Order: sequence, then structure tokens, then C-alpha cells
Amino acid sequence: LHNWLDLQQKYQCYFFAADWHALTTNYAQPDNIHQQSLEMFIDWLAVGIDPSKAVLFVQSAVPSHAELHLILSMITPLSWLERVPTYKEQKQKLHHKDLSTYGFLGYPLLQAADVLLYQANYVPVGEDQLAHIELTREIARRFNFLYQQNTLHEPAALLTAHAKFPGTDGQKMSKSYANTISLREEPDSVSKKIKTMPTDPARVRRTDPGNPELCPVWLLHQVYSDKTTQDWVTQGCTSAAIGCMQCKQKIIDKVIAEQQPIINKAKDFTGDKAQLINLITQGNEQAQEVAQKTLDKVKAVFKLMR
Ligand code: SF4
Repeated sequence: LHNWLDLQQKYQCYFFAADWHALTTNYAQPDNIHQQSLEMFIDWLAVGIDPSKAVLFVQSAVPSHAELHLILSMITPLSWLERVPTYKEQKQKLHHKDLSTYGFLGYPLLQAADVLLYQANYVPVGEDQLAHIELTREIARRFNFLYQQNTLHEPAALLTAHAKFPGTDGQKMSKSYANTISLREEPDSVSKKIKTMPTDPARVRRTDPGNPELCPVWLLHQVYSDKTTQDWVTQGCTSAAIGCMQCKQKIIDKVIAEQQPIINKAKDFTGDKAQLINLITQGNEQAQEVAQKTLDKVKAVFKLMR
């Protein structure tokens, strides 16, 4: 979201709640998706995303996303989707869910539709999503080649400075993996989650020296701590002069301090649901207008009966 605050000043941005995507892994428990989408918009507004600059909308409220996804599914070879690295990785990680569905295999294709509809030049992503951007580019090229068009624009990835950020289990942070800290989480819960984060496995006892490079907490220090604190961690960890709890407490303090203004600002939006819905409805309409133009060009290729 820090990244988005800059981006909204430099580009026409489209930020959306990907509720169709939420169904790919949560199709059996869809009850919370509506509320989670609303909470996410509140988070965005609370950190300073400005609806007069960026378009905020709900994916499922803009029908063009589902329609372009269907059309792209007709021209995309199955092998392109099967080789996407996150497909196998997520399937393994979420082995307790039945993800042998077309929706799960095809979700990078829905992402491609999300991007291509807006003729996007750039997509702000983490490193794990680079393969999805490449797939989107390939699909745009395939469509343009098959129908001798220049209809779909190939986007480029915009990587953030800290594109890789660990979850509280030390793995990739993801809502699907239940290892996140939310923006408006209670301080006690933040503290508990960070205190139980894994560390360098070599530090079994307090007196064992460690190596920050082997510790996910160090990745958090790289985001949250200044040079002096980082040097304190490196020296203290490698010489066992500090304990992991001391080291983690620095992060806990920073995270809680960062959250306080967000929690306060969010109160402006949690109290007035009608205003929030109104704002999102306007965003849905703006998005649909732009998306429909691309979709009309795509559909014109097929000369279907109207
Ligand atoms: Fe990780 Fe800090 Fe413990 Fe070193 S002291 S292992 S960097 S938590």
C-alpha cells in the first residue's frame, strides 16, 4: 500500500477487491467474502488511497472481467496454465482443500483478464507474480496474432522495493495461508504473532549464536528498522549478545506504531457504511465504462450474433 500511495500520484490506477479470485480457494465457504471486501476498502482508504485519484471497485460488480476470462479461456493452451509455478505450489500448500477445479487452474487467466481490460501499462506485483504477468503478455500476443489485431496491450511488472515479505510462519505471506497480520489487528495479537515467528533454527538456546540471513525476522528488520538497529541485530545475533525476543520486540513496537494512525483513520469509514458503498458503486461504474470498451473490441473479432 505504501507503493500504491506513490503510484496513485504518478498513474491512473485501478485497485479492486478480487472477490471472484477469493472463490478460487474459498468456493466452499463464501460467506465472508462480502465483508472482507468492505474491510479491505476501509484499509485502503485509511492508509490514504484516494478515490478522487484512483478507481476503487469490486471485480464481480464489473461483468466484463468474467466475460473476458471466458473468451481468453477459449484461446489459452492448458499447458500454459499447468506450468504456472504458483499452481503446483499453492495446491501442495493448501492440500486440505479440494483445488482440482477449473477455477483454480484458470485463476491466472482471470488475472490476465483483470489487467488486459484496462490496457494497463504496468502491474504492481511481488516477485511471485512475475510468472503471471508473463502469462498475461503471452495471452495478449496470442490473441493479437490469432486475429491479426492490436487489441490487447502487453503490460509490464512494477516490482516494489521490498517485493518479498514473509508471513508469520516464515513462508510467503498470503491470506490463503493464514499467516498474515492485518492492518487493524489488535496490538496483543500482533505481539503474539511476531513472538511466535520462526527464527534461525541454529539458535536453539539463548546462548547459541545465529545468522540473520537464515531468519525471517531479519526480512522484517530490513523493512522496519534503521541502519543502527540493523547493525545491533547483526552483531547481537551472531554473537548471541541479544535474544530473539529482544530482537522481535523492536519489530513489534514498529508495527504497532505504524498501525495506530491507520486504526484511527479507519473509524471515519467504519461508521458510515452508506458512504462507503456509494464510493465503491461510483468506482464500479468508472471501471465498467473503461473495461467495456476493451471487451467490445475483443468481441467484435468473433462477429457473434447480437
Ligand atoms: Fe532472528 Fe533476531 Fe533471533 Fe537472530 S536474534 S535469529 S535475527 S530473531
